[in-house]
Amino acid sequence: DGIKTLKVDDTPLPKSKNLDVLGEFERSKSKKSASFVVVGHVDAGKSTLMGRLLLDLNVVDQRTIQRYRKEAENIGKSSFALAWVLDQRSEERSRGVTIDIATNKFETENTSFTILDAPGHRDFIPNMIAGASQADFAILVVDATTGAFEAGLKGQTREHSLLLRSMGVSRIIVAINKLDTVEWSQERFDEISQQVSGFLSATGFQLKNVSFVPVSGLHGDNMVKRSSEPTASWYTGKTLIEELESSEPMTRALDKPLRMTISEVFRSAQSPLTISGRIDAGSLQTGDALLVQPSGEKAYVKSLELDSEPVDWAVAGQNIVIHLSNIDPIHVRVGDIICDLKQPIGCIDTFTVKVLAFDILMPMQVDVHRGRLHAAGQIVEIPALLDKIKGTELKKKPKIVKPASVARVRVKMGTKVPLEAGQRVVLRSGGETVAAGLLE
Ligand code: GDP
Repeated sequence: DGIKTLKVDDTPLPKSKNLDVLGEFERSKSKKSASFVVVGHVDAGKSTLMGRLLLDLNVVDQRTIQRYRKEAENIGKSSFALAWVLDQRSEERSRGVTIDIATNKFETENTSFTILDAPGHRDFIPNMIAGASQADFAILVVDATTGAFEAGLKGQTREHSLLLRSMGVSRIIVAINKLDTVEWSQERFDEISQQVSGFLSATGFQLKNVSFVPVSGLHGDNMVKRSSEPTASWYTGKTLIEELESSEPMTRALDKPLRMTISEVFRSAQSPLTISGRIDAGSLQTGDALLVQPSGEKAYVKSLELDSEPVDWAVAGQNIVIHLSNIDPIHVRVGDIICDLKQPIGCIDTFTVKVLAFDILMPMQVDVHRGRLHAAGQIVEIPALLDKIKGTELKKKPKIVKPASVARVRVKMGTKVPLEAGQRVVLRSGGETVAAGLLE
C-alpha cells in the first residue's frame, strides 16, 4: 500500500570502444561528400531538373521513367514525367515514418552527393531553411523563358537567394533553365547571368563563388551530357554535373562539441527510441552518453547506422540514425538537440541576432526558426542599425528596419529553447520570411 511501482530502465549501458573518432574519420575518407539544396521560383523546373539529373546518372532507371511518361501522356501532360520521379520518391518516403528533411543521395566517380530539401515541397520555406543551413552549396534554378525570369526575380528567386545568403551558403550554381524555349539564345543567357550576378552581389555573394550553366532540364542538355543542339554550341563551359563535382564541401566543425538537431523520432527493430538527423558539429560513437535539450535528459548511444549499415562512430556532416537507450521517449522530440554532455547547449528565451531584413522590422510578433526547431516570439528591441558590409553601427535604436538593411535585434520567445551564439535563425511573420541572421 502506498508503494509506487517505479518503471526502471534496466537495459545495460552500451559499451564504448573509446575510439579516436577523428582519426578513424581521416583514415576512412575515400570519397568527397557534398550536400546541396535546389531553390528557385515555382515552375522554374527544379523537380524536372533533379529528375533528369538522377535519370542521366542512372540513379533512377529508364523503365520507371517510361512508366511515368506513359501515365503522364494519358493525362495529356507528358512533360510532367521527370518531375514525377521526385514526387514519387517523396511519396514513398512519407508513407513510412515522418521524415522532414528528405535525404536523397547519389554518387559520381569522385563525389557522394546529398540533396537536402526535396524540391517537390513547393514553397515550403521552413523546409528550405532547414536544408540551407546544412548545405555546402545551392543550385538556383531560373527559368529563361521570356517573361518568366523577370517574374521569378520578383518572386521567390530573390527571397531564396537572400535566405541562402543569411543561412551561410556561399556557393551558388545558377542553372539557367529551359533554354530550349528561347532557341538557346546566348544573348538571353548573358542577359540573365548579368542580372542574377547583379542582385547576388548586392545580396553579399562573392561572384567568384557563383557560376552559370545554360541547361534544359527537360531535354537533358548540359546536365550530364553536353548539349548536341547546334544552336547551343557557343557554350563550352562546364556541364551542371561538372560544376557540382568541382564544388568544395565546407569545412566541418569536427572538433567542436557535439550538436545534432533531431529530424525524426521513431521506433525501430533495434530500439523503441530511434532518432535521426545530420550532425552539425562534433562527433559521437557507440556507448557515448548524450544530453537531449531542452528536456535536459541523459541518454546513451546504443548503436548507430549510416546509410542503413551499422557503424561505430559518426562525424559532423553525416546523416545518421541513432538508437538510444536509458531515456523515456517523452523527453525526445523532433527539433530537439542532442549534444555533448560536458559542453551542452543552453536553453534560452531571449537572444540578440544580427539580421538581414527582408521586410520592415519593428517591435512585432515573429516565429523563430532554426532548422527543425521553431518557437513563437517577438522582437522586443532594435539596439542598432548596422552597415551591411562592415557590420559597424550606423544608428542606435532605430524605430524600424527597412527591407534589405542589416540590424541587431533582440528577440524574446514564449519558451526556452536550445540556441547558442553562432547559430543561424530565420524570423517569419504571417507566413513570410521577414529576416534571417546569426545569433550573437
Ligand atoms: P518546379 O516547380 O520548379 O519543380 O518546376 P517543374 O519541374 O514542375 O517544371 C515546371 C514546368 O516547366 C513543367 O511543365 C516542366 O515540364 C517544364 N519544364 C521544366 N524544365 C524545362 C525545360 O528545360 N524546358 C522546357 N521547355 N520546359 C521545362
